[in-house]
Amino acid sequence: MSTSVSIDWSQLGFSYFKTPYRYIARWKDGQWNEGELTEDNTLHISESSTALHYGQQCFEGLKAYRTKDGSVQLFRPDQNARRMHQSCDRVLMPRVPEDMFIDACLQVVKANLDYVPPYGTGATLYLRPFVIGVGDNIGVKPAPEFIFSVFCLPVGPYFKGGMAPVNFMVSEFDRAAPYGTGAAKVGGNYAGSLMPHEQAVEQGFADCIYLDPLTHTKIEEVGAANFFGITKDNEFITPKSPSILPSITKYSLLYLAEHYLKMKVSERDVLIDHLDEFAEAGACGTAAVITPIGGVSYKGKLHVFHSETEVGPVTKKLYDTLCGIQFGDVEAPEGWLVKVD
Ligand SMILES: *Cc1c(COP(=O)(O)O)cnc(C)c1O
Repeated sequence: MSTSVSIDWSQLGFSYFKTPYRYIARWKDGQWNEGELTEDNTLHISESSTALHYGQQCFEGLKAYRTKDGSVQLFRPDQNARRMHQSCDRVLMPRVPEDMFIDACLQVVKANLDYVPPYGTGATLYLRPFVIGVGDNIGVKPAPEFIFSVFCLPVGPYFKGGMAPVNFMVSEFDRAAPYGTGAAKVGGNYAGSLMPHEQAVEQGFADCIYLDPLTHTKIEEVGAANFFGITKDNEFITPKSPSILPSITKYSLLYLAEHYLKMKVSERDVLIDHLDEFAEAGACGTAAVITPIGGVSYKGKLHVFHSETEVGPVTKKLYDTLCGIQFGDVEAPEGWLVKVD
């Protein structure tokens, strides 16, 4: 765990940081080239790239974790590779083969090993893979060429002073259309979320909750994270809908709730008018793992779950179990971890 770089790991937030190396591969004439590491953090692309005009692009997010013995591991990169296949399919971009995706992530982490934060800081190395349509083009059609790249940066734990609940407000805007691109991790979904997010923050909330775009009666997403609730009889519930982005953290928590915490689990509708059924609720995603939901503001009324200040016991247990696995302190289900060195 010799870290020759001088970074105050405890001060890290979630901001861009230029690490020395990133991976880049190009697709042309029906195939991906070899791919290579580069020190150049800028892209030189055609002004007419489809990624710039028509949103033909997608991205992923995953982390590398330093364990107690100093080794480094990735958490379920195969799941990110597969989700990126779905995103690429949806916006007509070539798939990055799973082994190429994982190899690119491993190359980037190995090349920037000094930037993987030490065990115990709660900080991690965040990886951002992405595919963009590039090359000369003007019509609304798939690009003639594509770039697949992976860069990384050290990020701090989401909650500096320990996990704490925050409040959310239900937005009147939709993040996705009923049969649109909500299930794909494509940039267009996020441009449209910037304004509702800003409005929620201006009103004193952490972010907004999006309801299902067809009926506006069911919870879909919490900002750019998935929703889960723990019912009063200890069942793990998470919404099911074709316009939700399938969170790897969410499916991991669902598995841990069932197999480690021996809870009943189900994916089904979560009605915004029936929040009373939950004793606890949270938002989940790679960045924060779990953000406990203190309360939800809907039609001018704040519905509080467990508490506005204290984390619920099941939420805490789920969080500790998943983080324990990611940092190598709790035994992982088979295939969940990929060693970097
Ligand atoms: C990335 C993302 C998530 C979280 O997915 P993870 O795989 O858990 O990081 C949830 N919702 C949206 C809209 C996302 O973009």
